[in-house]
Order: sequence, then C-alpha cells, then structure tokens
Amino acid sequence: MIVLSHKIQIKNPTIKQDQYFRQACGISRFAYNWGLAEWQRQYDAGLKPTALAVKKAFNAIKPIEFPWVFNVTKCAAEQAFIDLGSAFKRFFKHLSKYPRFKKKGIHDSFYLSNDQFKIEANKIRIPKLGWVSVTESLRFEGKVLSATVSRIANRWFVSLNIQMNFAPHKISENQADAVGVDLGVKNLATLSNGSTIEGSKPLKKLSHKLARIQRHLAKCTKGSKRYNRQKIKLAQLHYRIRCIRQDSLHKLTHHICQDFKIICIEDLNVKGMMKNHKLAKAISDMGFYEFKRQLEYKATLFGNWISTVSKWFPSSKTCSNCGNKKDELKLSERIYLCDKCSFEIDRDLNAAINIEREGICLLS
Ligand SMILES: [Zn+2]
Repeated sequence: MIVLSHKIQIKNPTIKQDQYFRQACGISRFAYNWGLAEWQRQYDAGLKPTALAVKKAFNAIKPIEFPWVFNVTKCAAEQAFIDLGSAFKRFFKHLSKYPRFKKKGIHDSFYLSNDQFKIEANKIRIPKLGWVSVTESLRFEGKVLSATVSRIANRWFVSLNIQMNFAPHKISENQADAVGVDLGVKNLATLSNGSTIEGSKPLKKLSHKLARIQRHLAKCTKGSKRYNRQKIKLAQLHYRIRCIRQDSLHKLTHHICQDFKIICIEDLNVKGMMKNHKLAKAISDMGFYEFKRQLEYKATLFGNWISTVSKWFPSSKTCSNCGNKKDELKLSERIYLCDKCSFEIDRDLNAAINIEREGICLLS
C-alpha cells in the first residue's frame, strides 16, 4: 500500500470562501499557539502535559472565550492539538527543536478529516461552507484519508491524501528491459540507450525577473502597501518556477517508468554536492531530490524495479567498452577517452551505460 497526496487548486474562490479559509487557518494557528502556551504553563506548574490534556483545557473554555472557533470546521482547532503532540514527540526523540509559535502568513493551512468533507467531480464540500469548485478532479483511485487546505502565494489549494493499492503495471511490448540513468548538471538525465533529457532550468530563465523583484522589494519600506504587493509578486514567481520544474520532472519520471522495467540509478550524494556552491545552484535548479522522490513512488505504483548503485561506484571513471578505470576525471572533460582501448564516448552516456550494467549485476 502507498499513500499519495494530490494537490488541486481551488478555482476562483468567492469572497465568502476566501474569508472562511483565512479564518480556518487563523483558528488552526491560534489553537496551536494557545496549546503551546498552555503546555508550557502546565509544565511550569509541575504537571505532565499531553496533547489530550491541553485540548481538554481548550475545549472547556472555548464556548465562552473563543466562540468564533465554531464558525469553521471543528477539525481546524482539533488537528492543531494533534500536530502539537507530534511536534513534542519529535522534540523528545531529539528529531527536531522545541516547538515554536506559528506566525501568520507562513504555512497557512487547516486540516479536514475524511468524515468531514466530500469529493465529487470538480468540487469539494467543506463543513459550514458548502461546495467549493476545484480546477481538476481526483486523478487517483483509492481511499481518501484526509485533506489539507493551504495557501501558496495568493492561491488556495486542497491537498488530498489517498491510500492506494498499487496494481502491477501492464508493461508495454516494446518496453526495453533495463535502463541506466545518469543525473547530470548539463542535462537533467542521460539514458544508457543514448537519449538525453534536458532540464527545464526555469530558474535560469526567470532568475533575471526574480532578481528585479528582489531589488524592488529591498527598496520598499517593510509593511508598506508597495512592499506587500512586491512580496505577493515574488511568491507568485517562486510558485511559477516550481510548477515548471515539477511538470518537466513528472514527464521524465513517467516516461522512464512507462518504457523500462528495470531502472538503474546512482545513489547520488546530493547533500555532499550541495556543499559545493558552484554545483549547488545547478543541482537545486534541476530538482534532483524531487526526481528521485517521483521515480521511487511511480516505480512502486507501476511495478518497476529500481536498482540503486552505490555512490562509490566509479560510473564516470570506468570505460564502458573495456572496463579500464581512470584515476582521475575532471568535471570539465565532457568526452571520455579511454587510455587503454582508445574508446571515445560522451561522458554522461558512458556513466549511464556503466550504471545500467552495475545495476543489473546487483539484481542478479
Ligand atoms: Zn577502454
């Protein structure tokens, strides 16, 4: 079983809907912050606070002190205490820092449990609000577990968590058995069959525009009308860049999973590479992490095999023709020339072939 999330944009929300979403996000944030303060108060008083105890304290005073929480779905406040409990759990396990108060405008969202909403074609029914139109219908079949409404730039989205039973994918007849994928900086990917996939590099194209808005923003007085307008523009541009990147990656990972049964990739030490600043921008622009994430879940869904080759495997330094290994290969050397058999081949293609070969060895 696999849980996927499908994020859909809410279509032209009315003023009433927009107000509801804002209020629900505000209540969710308020309950979380109230809970965090209460947790600290109980702790200081020598008690052993829990998410449940804090929620009880909130519910006891809510009808009189916070009657406006009843304006929106009860989930908005309820989930905040569950989230607070998880935040403390992570803190106690030393997985994250002590929970902090939430700020307005940062990760604004609210939760809906699956008994609190309905989905039909291109609309979703939200308690105390009614039907809300969305831009597309649900693409995946399965049990809908929950929904989260959130804001990116000035748009609203609903993200649905769906539990799916994946069926082994029908493999098309012309599907070649295996492919080696070399993720690169010059091209997004080079396949061992010789084809290359260019990255969309949206940041590069839009970086000029990005810089202009950022310059503009720096000149504005913080909090002024102009400042806020520029800030929304900046968020919109960031969102656009992300969409372009996501789209090209989805096409690539879909293509690879459709056409090949066994996918051999390298376990790239992306974190280590990020320390190298020159490479870092190109890499984050290409979205390596996202590539791997998509490939992994689609393979689970479609029934492909992924064979991950160790990052220590010398895929670039080895000759794919005779197996000779070079001691050194500079990043600037785009063509691999073997000193032993004089074989000449594109550097990335050479690596992709080696990755395929090694990946198959690991499986058999
Ligand atoms: Zn050779």
